[in-house]
Amino acid sequence: MSNKKFVFMFSETDETMKNLVGGKGANLGQMTKLGLPIPQGFTVSTEACTVYYQNKENLPDYIFDQINSSLVELEKITNKKFGDPMNPLLVSVRSGARVSMPGMMDTILNLGLNETVVKGLAEITNNPRFAYDSYRRFIQMYSDVVMGLPKPRFEEIIDEMKEERNISLDTEFSANDFQEMIQKFKALYKKELNEEFPSDPKKQLYGAIEAVFASWENPRANYYRKINGIPSSWGTAVNVQSMVYGNMGETSGTGVAFTRNPANGEDKVYGEFLLNAQGEDVVAGVRTPSPLAELGKIMPDVYQQFIDLAKKLENHFKDMQDIEFTIENGILYFLQTRSGKRTAHAALKIAVDMFETNMIDKERAIMLVKPEQLDTFLHPQFDESALKKAKRIGEGLPASPGAATGQVVFNVEQAIEQVNKGNKVVLVRLETSPEDIEGMHVSEGFLTARGGMTSHAAVVARGMGKCCVSGCHGLVVNEAKGFFTVGGEKYHLGDWISLDGSTGIVYGGKIDTRPATISGDFEKFMTWCDEIKTLDVRTNADTPNDAKQARAFGAQGIGLCRTEHMFFEADRIKAMREMIVSENIEQRKKALAKLLPMQQSDFEQIYEAMEGMPVTIRYLDPPLHEFLPTQDSDIEELAQELGVSKEKLIDKIASLHEFNPMMGHRGCRLSVSYPELAEMQTTAIIQAYINVMKRNPDYPAVPEIMIPLVGEVRELKFVKDIVVETADKLIKESKMDLKYLVGTMIEIPRAALLADEIAKEAEFFSFGTNDLTQMTFGFSRDDAGVFLKDYYEKRIYENDPFATIDQEGVGKLVEIAVKKGKEANPHLHLGVCGEHGGDPRSVEFFHKVGLDYVSCSPFRVPIARLAAAQSAIKYKK
Ligand code: ADP
Ligand code: MG
Ligand code: MG
Repeated sequence: MSNKKFVFMFSETDETMKNLVGGKGANLGQMTKLGLPIPQGFTVSTEACTVYYQNKENLPDYIFDQINSSLVELEKITNKKFGDPMNPLLVSVRSGARVSMPGMMDTILNLGLNETVVKGLAEITNNPRFAYDSYRRFIQMYSDVVMGLPKPRFEEIIDEMKEERNISLDTEFSANDFQEMIQKFKALYKKELNEEFPSDPKKQLYGAIEAVFASWENPRANYYRKINGIPSSWGTAVNVQSMVYGNMGETSGTGVAFTRNPANGEDKVYGEFLLNAQGEDVVAGVRTPSPLAELGKIMPDVYQQFIDLAKKLENHFKDMQDIEFTIENGILYFLQTRSGKRTAHAALKIAVDMFETNMIDKERAIMLVKPEQLDTFLHPQFDESALKKAKRIGEGLPASPGAATGQVVFNVEQAIEQVNKGNKVVLVRLETSPEDIEGMHVSEGFLTARGGMTSHAAVVARGMGKCCVSGCHGLVVNEAKGFFTVGGEKYHLGDWISLDGSTGIVYGGKIDTRPATISGDFEKFMTWCDEIKTLDVRTNADTPNDAKQARAFGAQGIGLCRTEHMFFEADRIKAMREMIVSENIEQRKKALAKLLPMQQSDFEQIYEAMEGMPVTIRYLDPPLHEFLPTQDSDIEELAQELGVSKEKLIDKIASLHEFNPMMGHRGCRLSVSYPELAEMQTTAIIQAYINVMKRNPDYPAVPEIMIPLVGEVRELKFVKDIVVETADKLIKESKMDLKYLVGTMIEIPRAALLADEIAKEAEFFSFGTNDLTQMTFGFSRDDAGVFLKDYYEKRIYENDPFATIDQEGVGKLVEIAVKKGKEANPHLHLGVCGEHGGDPRSVEFFHKVGLDYVSCSPFRVPIARLAAAQSAIKYKK
């Protein structure tokens, strides 16, 4: 163990070593290699961080030994000595994980100073003001970062001293002022921590390094990791770097810059700097920094050198860089470079510009845009100036992005009534249910008091590409009286409100929105993705409108057409209910006969909308209770229609009650009990298809019939036999040459384990990863939100398995099913149609395990296309 290398000089590392020395360290190494002016130093590796935690949060001596040797090495390189008053080496201690991560320990500058060293520094630089300024900064940072003594305590002292002297800027303090400040800081330190401020430079260094490792587990860092899916096993590295001083006077300074404009992508260096300043002064907002171009007037040579080297870095890394630099007495140093964060618009423009100027190839261009960023282009947005003036009334979860503004309604009837009058509405509910679908369709967005990111409202909203804020804190909905309250405000039916589904913020009043614009760059970029990706991207669409939307976003077919959503519309739900409460097969057939023409015409329209692209239609799936009336008046109406007594109907409904409907009478089990259901649905599909074929003889795709919730090959066979018998009869009668495919969903673990048997009866598999996830974990998607947060907090699960596929467990089942299925049937076509189909990390997994397509909601299609292209590049043979 102890002969392993844990500490690396910058000259020993490069950009390929991010996992070992962190992003900051790897790039400092790479910049050293490229010959840029870098204050030298060394990096304590992420593996040392792992050891630190294995060793009860202590670094073992063998790592300290390596740190000491590297320090000696650094003394040689810099020709300075740690702790030597006449020629002191001072260092910064900087955290640096694999990816840049807010929440980690703040940087400590000027480490190595004490009462003796500071005197020496004042003398040799002939600049006491600089020396004492550096020391007081060090005390502030060390106390805050290593000892947890909060910054404001020090700010108070500084503010008092400013007041006494009647000055407003730090730069107006004299050397003597700083000396006095140092004594006050130390007194505060002693009072609060009951010990002297450490004066031994080595002790300071060890303390700082361990503090960086300890900060890896602080709550802020943990939270950031959780929302960004960064494993806590990665650990952070620590960089120890010799100091350069931006606070030596008016020919010194510090700044930050982007090699392009991060807001709009314009190809022009963009940045800010401050003279006579150190570290984070630029971003801390104490003084107002100047635009970088000003530097060109003050120090033209330094400026030109900076621009040249910045472009050199951009060219090397083939990406826009975010750079931190310092000027010491007119000499430029680079302190950090990394890929810069940018808006979605900038990301697209930069990728396209860099490709078109031959700086990068298409593959690289595709890697420069994050799939999630595309979301911005796909939803309406608030007008920014209008948003600034808006009144914020509450906040919930940003469940589905976009902007919505409309008049408050509380139920489906109100929604439809208002929309028919030409008004825009926002649906406000305690929570939504499948019965609200129609009202949801016509609303601009939904606001709910209950529910999480995977609640009904959230899932439906994302599916429809509508804006949704769910789980809004303090929202009380009184539907009966027609008002809601939030944050002490009361809003009535018809009042205007606005929702920002990207932030979760709720505003009172109307805010102008503008529709999503798909710019030329966006289109161009997406065609590049299509050239490169190998995974097809289909969509989940239940209506011709969804289908058209998805095609506009580049979908290559429908991977999941749910037949049940069509049944919630007012004229259909009655027939559906009639079917469900039927006492006998005659009644049921009568009800089904009413549904048949509606279903058939829906399918025809969807086939037409898809113009020959493949369409997978799934047979009726949900638990039947979702369709049953709950309101007294509805029950009465239905009883009349059926010609039975209300009491009898109530009994019937009660008899359909299930304790666990998710695992109840649903999916293919319905057709096992009621074969006439599969018969009707087959008739609707084949008849619709025949009609479309008559109109468009060269309609290329064949119908794909999907039987859900199969766990046993014999149940699949049972339903399939009905399908085949019904379909073949119709085809024969039509005298047309027609083919169709029968496949199944793999969403019950047993089906995945027995996929070889099931593949004998199935021509395709579609992984229903929503159900597969809940069945594999054994908790329900609709209820898990409540306790999953405890699991995240206690670090049992790191992220939501319903949002990103659990590769280890659920993913293992997918892999097993792919392998076994292909062995039994090499022509088996494979896809996925759960929510995961639109999640970039899951898409990558599906690409890796060899699926043929993913299917996702229309508004995720461009995101999935980009994710698929990036996967193809990443796993290129
Ligand atoms: P963050 O990750 O928060 O940006 P950094 O480790 O980059 O923290 O440090 C913040 C700032 O501290 C840098 O931008 C730079 O201005 C200053 N700094 C860090 N190390 C040094 C150094 N060796 N010499 C001079 N300034 C430094
Ligand atoms: Mg910082
Ligand atoms: Mg930095």
